Amino acid sequence: MGGATRELPVRPRAELVAEASVLGGDPRSETGITGRRLEAGAGGDAGTPSLRSRPAIPVQPRGGRGAVLSLRPRRTLSPGHSPRRVLRGEHGPQPSRERGGGPWSELSTRSAMASPGREGEHPSVTLFRQYLRIRTVQPEPDYGAAVAFLEERARQLGLGCQKVEVAPGRVVTVLTWPGTNPKLSSLLLNSHTDVVPVSKEYWSHDPFEAFKDAEGYIYARGAQDMKCVGIQYLEAVRRLKAEGHHFPRTIHMTFVPDEEIGGHKGMELFVQRPEFKALKAGFALDEGLANPTDAFTVFYSERSPWWVRVTSTGKPGHGSRFIEDTAAEKLHKVVGSVLAFREKERQRLQANPHLKLGAVTSVNLTKLEGGMAYNVVPATMSASFDFRVAPDVDLKAFEEQLRGWCQAAGQGVTFEFVQKWTEPRVTSTDDSDPWWAAFSGVCKDMRLTLEQEIFPAATDSRYLRAVGVPALGFSPMNRTPVLLHGHDERLHEAVFLRGIDIYTRLLPALASVPALPSDS
Ligand SMILES: [Zn+2]
Repeated sequence: MGGATRELPVRPRAELVAEASVLGGDPRSETGITGRRLEAGAGGDAGTPSLRSRPAIPVQPRGGRGAVLSLRPRRTLSPGHSPRRVLRGEHGPQPSRERGGGPWSELSTRSAMASPGREGEHPSVTLFRQYLRIRTVQPEPDYGAAVAFLEERARQLGLGCQKVEVAPGRVVTVLTWPGTNPKLSSLLLNSHTDVVPVSKEYWSHDPFEAFKDAEGYIYARGAQDMKCVGIQYLEAVRRLKAEGHHFPRTIHMTFVPDEEIGGHKGMELFVQRPEFKALKAGFALDEGLANPTDAFTVFYSERSPWWVRVTSTGKPGHGSRFIEDTAAEKLHKVVGSVLAFREKERQRLQANPHLKLGAVTSVNLTKLEGGMAYNVVPATMSASFDFRVAPDVDLKAFEEQLRGWCQAAGQGVTFEFVQKWTEPRVTSTDDSDPWWAAFSGVCKDMRLTLEQEIFPAATDSRYLRAVGVPALGFSPMNRTPVLLHGHDERLHEAVFLRGIDIYTRLLPALASVPALPSDS
């Protein structure tokens, strides 16, 4: 998750501690969470103003926003079965007797959980930790090291490797496993290589050391967002290739830069390149978020970031007088209108337990500017708002409403967009959609519970969807607190390895989706 999007809800301590106990983690390791503050992002994610007209949303989800696809839970996660037991007891650290069954077997997760020391570590975990140690941290990511790492992976896996420099020093690395039917569109597995900065003093361990504690938690920036997913793709492909599989559709793994600062020198440029068109992407998987419960969250759309600056002009004068028609009075009216709208949306979200944050429009007043002295009434003042517009909102009407609020405040009140995303798209989660059927079918077979949501912030998926590639945001991390961009970002190795199992099932299904009308 990146760029314009860095607004994690700061949740109360009680909730976080509860999550920690669900995970069976050492309570001491929560020090970092309870005291967590959201680190400043790399900044500079002001988008290019875009004033394209709003197209119709091509696909309407029939599952409904926030709908829960209730699939049968995994047997091991049945009600009453304590997650703590699952992680620490049944699957927890134990002698590596299962390893004889082969680390790549269906039981690999179990065997891998039994990795008390470095020597017994699952090779996929070792690889994950190597990747985490590459300092691709904004604002000066070591992209060269990441690309070299990926090239080496391509070499070892016997995959094609293409490097597309979309901007100076900004390389998209594409690893390709050709399908048996090149006429079909491809499956695109996307991940970003950059990570957000850290406030080291709040971390229990060096965020670029990829420290693994005795419980099996790996602490590192990028552990959740989203180096885990990049390695999971690679390891699933490695496993499938080793088992001698071939699939009709080509699988491309794209590793993109700069997502965390808006993707403007990453995916936004890449999708306009001929090299991207040559990939013939028919469907994409991209990042999602962890889910603290047994369920997995899958994102089928995103809200549109609208950053709006309202400027009010009025009569200046001496601070001791009742000046008529001041900039401040008019700005106050606009702020009042926007905050009243905010409250309405907040209550709508609170009143309906089925609604998730992504389904409503949020807004925050994030900047107030103006004035030069205590005794001078300024002629100009401005207020800046961060709107996140839900994908079912009529953007034209919404802009009219903004205009109306400004006009109602009086003469000389204008607004401008600093960022304006106008192409919201919804990826189908209808059972009749072959991609969704393949995706959800595997989840059903694996007895994974899916929660369908709209991503509350923005990811590179928006660029893919905007050029017509349906995309699902999915980071297979259940029973994991949402710690992306936070202190002590971490992931349990068992959850990480389970993710490889999941992709090992997902990729064959998605890469074998029969020919579609859109393929010709
Ligand atoms: Zn991310």
